[in-house]
Parts: sequence; structure tokens; C-alpha cells
Amino acid sequence: MSTVSGATVFAERALLPGGWAENVAVTIGADGRILAVDRDTAATGQTVGILLPAPGNLHSHAFQRAMAGMSERRGSEPRDSFWTWRQIMFRFLDALRPEDVEAIAAFVQMEMLEAGYAAVGEFHYLHHQPGGAPYNNLAELSERIIGAAADTGIGLTHLPVHYQYGGCDRRPLAQGQIRFGNDTERFQKLHELAGQALKALPEDAVIGVAPHSLRAVDHDGLQSAVALAGANPLHMHLAEQIPEVEEVQAAWGQRPVEWLLAHHEVRDNWCLIHCTQMSPAETEGLARTGAVAGLCPITESSLGDGIFDGVNYLGAGGRFGVGSDSNIRIALSEELRTLEYSQRLRDTCRASVATKEHSTGRVLFDGAVAGGAQALGRKSGAIEEGRYADLLALDCTAIDLEGREGDEILDAWIFAGDDRMVTEVWSAGRHVVSGGNHVKGEAIRAKYRATMASLRNRL
Ligand code: ZN
Repeated sequence: MSTVSGATVFAERALLPGGWAENVAVTIGADGRILAVDRDTAATGQTVGILLPAPGNLHSHAFQRAMAGMSERRGSEPRDSFWTWRQIMFRFLDALRPEDVEAIAAFVQMEMLEAGYAAVGEFHYLHHQPGGAPYNNLAELSERIIGAAADTGIGLTHLPVHYQYGGCDRRPLAQGQIRFGNDTERFQKLHELAGQALKALPEDAVIGVAPHSLRAVDHDGLQSAVALAGANPLHMHLAEQIPEVEEVQAAWGQRPVEWLLAHHEVRDNWCLIHCTQMSPAETEGLARTGAVAGLCPITESSLGDGIFDGVNYLGAGGRFGVGSDSNIRIALSEELRTLEYSQRLRDTCRASVATKEHSTGRVLFDGAVAGGAQALGRKSGAIEEGRYADLLALDCTAIDLEGREGDEILDAWIFAGDDRMVTEVWSAGRHVVSGGNHVKGEAIRAKYRATMASLRNRL
């Protein structure tokens, strides 16, 4: 697997670990890793204008993409703004078949690649048949996610989710949750099977584990997930909404982040998703662990979760990455922009996360690249020899990028542009997006349309 393929990407400008460089040639090996990075060299191989390390999308529930735009009404109960979202979700959960899951996942992964993400952490909790009985193959739906990744070429960190209860009081799973549930023993089996199935993918694929949240697992379930993870990624939803914080506080005796930091050795392979509801002490405590906060600003806006305290968290040295979570809209530049704008709206200020050295766009982008790679357990995150070639190219002829230099390129892309500026993407050396389109886009879109037509008939 380590023979040289000779694929070379030549960039007029590239963002390297030491900063911006010109006339850079990146040589990619057959194993998808970067063999060499040469600066100030003559043009060779495929030429692009602006080359960046491509971030990973650290949090996704693929199937929710199919519900996008369908839950913007209220029910009869005036205080219950989640009503339509929950109703739609339950109806979907009764209708989704394995082939639907695979077609939706392929479409979602394709959109992520076209947006500039090279990899995804799929927080996978849909395990069983409608009605809750397991499939003959316990890891059937994990295999569908893996099959989609084989098709799209995205770098997959697969995170099977352990989901035991319907709430902190350990109530049984509700009708809408019965496809998610396992006891700890069956979950361990499922995790093992998913890990075996993942071997069908190229060697950059990673297996992790995801205890769903402090609402859905007990002490033993969480402990078992920690053991299963070892040094691999461990992801968990944490402190997303105020009612959740109150529920956890009542049942576990402390606020969610406070409890976790007091009872577990939270290390750098941990990724805590959301953390929108933290006290100042929790914000500082989490920042000190070296774990990654998995921020999903578009989904958090969509669900009205609240605003992550990015200013104090980054000020305390906290690491973060971004995820598209509900996939209501998959847009890398917009995810970063929303993160920054939420801080500005709360604090009535500008350039919230910028530092003396780096602009807002640069801080957001560097953070998402490094944190994404760390959270996904993926040896990427920089254009550097030995790392996986997760790369994205921006269209230097786009009006807003013309004549821009250095960090202003990132600022223009994130604040004035959108993902249409992304022209090429490589995931561990796989050239999956060319000229702005996924190389199998037409077939994947056609299959998704057919799947959605069939689903609409069955809802
Ligand atoms: Zn989530």
C-alpha cells in the first residue's frame, strides 16, 4: 500500500503549517498520504489556485438530511416548538429501509465533500428494524453507512451509538426511539461487527464509539463505551439545551459538563457535541482537558439550542471542530460564519474570535481543521509530509477571491462567499470532487431523488 502513485497537486498558493506559501507541489502516495511538499517549484501535475487542508465534519446524523425543510410548523400546543420536528422524525423512522439509509447517506456524504469537508464522523444511532427488532445482521445499518462511504470516497469515522434509555430516569425507549436501543452486551457485539465491516474501506477509516448522552446511558453503559473506545474517538452529546441540563442535574447531581469532568478522565480522544449550555467554570474546565468541543452552529440555530461560549472557550485554549449534525444544511463556510456571527450577536461586537496574529476566518478555519482531525482520530489536519492528503482547492477566479492574499482569502470565502468556491477536494488522496462536482454526483443524486419519491409515498 505504500508505493508511490506519483499524483501531484500544484498550487499557486497553499496554506501550510508554517503559513501561506507560493508555488507549492504536493505529492500524494498510493496510500493517500502526503509524500512531499515542495515550495517555490515549477508547475507540475494538476494545477489549482488556492490549496487548503480540508477539515473533517465531526458530527452527522445522515438520515436526518431527508427531513430538511419539513419541520417548520408548530403544533396545537403553543409551548411545544419541537412538535413538528418530532412528528416528522417519528414518521421517517417508521419508513426508513436499509437501502433508503444507504442512498441518503451517500447523498449527504457527497454534499459534504462538495462543501469542502474531506471526512465525516457519523454518529450512528439508527440500528434496528421499524418496531425495534434487530436485523439478521446486527450491524446492517452500519454496513449501509460504510457502503455509502465506499461509494462516495469520504473519509469515514464511524461512531456506533450506545442508546439505552428514553431519559435520565431510565424510562424505556419511546415509540420513536426503539430503533436505536441496545443493552450494553448487544451494543458491544454491534460495535465489534461494525468495526469488522469497516475493514472494507481504505485504511484511513476509523471506528470510534458514541455513548449517546447522559440522558440515554447509565454509568455502566458509559463506562463500557469508554473501554470500547480505548485511544479511538469517543463522542457524546452534552449540554445542548437548558431542559437537558436540568434533567441531568436532577438525576446525576451535577450539570452535565461538571459531572463528566468530575467523574471521567476526559482526554484528547473525546469529543463533546454542542456544549451550548455551560457555566463559565465548565467552559474553562472543558477547555483545559484537550478534548474537542463539537460545534454545530447551523443545527443549533435551527433547533434554538443557544449560543456556545466560543470567546471564553478559545480564550482558555479550548479546541473545537464543526459538524453539520441534523444536515438541514450542509455548508462548511456557513457553519464557520454562523459560529462567529452568533458570538457577535450575543456580545454586540465584531471579529469575536480573531487574535492579534490572525484574522477571524483564519482562526475559525485553523481551529476546525485541527479539531476536526483530532476528533475523528484522523491523521490529517495539515498539508504536511506523512499526513493523509485531505485537501480542498478554492476557485481563485471567484470575484470575491480575486486579488486576495493570505488570511483575507479565508475571510472572503467564509464571510462573503460560499461553498460554490470549492472546486476540488481530495480525501486521503482520493480525488472525489472535480470542478465543483462530486465525481459520481449524477448517479448519487438520481438515487436520492428516487429514494425521496418512494419515501414520500410511504410516509
Ligand atoms: Zn447530534
